[in-house]
Amino acid sequence: MQKKYCPKCKETKSSEYFGKDKRSKSGLQVYCKSCRKKYRQANKETIAINQKAYRQANKETIATQEKRWRQANKEGFAAQQKSYYESNKDVFKRRHMSSTPENIVYLTKRLTSRRADRAFEEAFERAMNDVGYVVEARDGWVVKVHENGEIERIERLEAQQDSSNFSWSTLG
Ligand SMILES: [Zn+2]
Repeated sequence: MQKKYCPKCKETKSSEYFGKDKRSKSGLQVYCKSCRKKYRQANKETIAINQKAYRQANKETIATQEKRWRQANKEGFAAQQKSYYESNKDVFKRRHMSSTPENIVYLTKRLTSRRADRAFEEAFERAMNDVGYVVEARDGWVVKVHENGEIERIERLEAQQDSSNFSWSTLG
């Protein structure tokens, strides 16, 4: 069984404790699953802020990707719509909705945004891995924690944080 070192918890674990990342040399993600989970739980707010900033800074790219994805998946889309409708029949009944064209459009939008969210999340995670550091909230600061343990302060966290001057490009 392949083993891998996690620079976060400083433990060497078997590869099943790491998520997959096709783009990395090892085919695995930098940090182990439990560290990534802990990170996500501890940094919900920061992640949300970063994602918002990333979205704002990459609006056009994201829109293009979504459009491309929709075009490439037209057929799969119809099938997804149908199965979504089938598995959510009760909700539709409760709202007195049926599979009318308007409702299908509504479903399409929902599916698209859900799919885009997932694609975006993956892209975001990949970016986080690629740059060799993670962004965390520590002692009231947004900090970069580099793989060598070095910590760099980026921005002060405040209750009413203004994320408008925080863009993905300042991270990378
Ligand atoms: Zn770890």
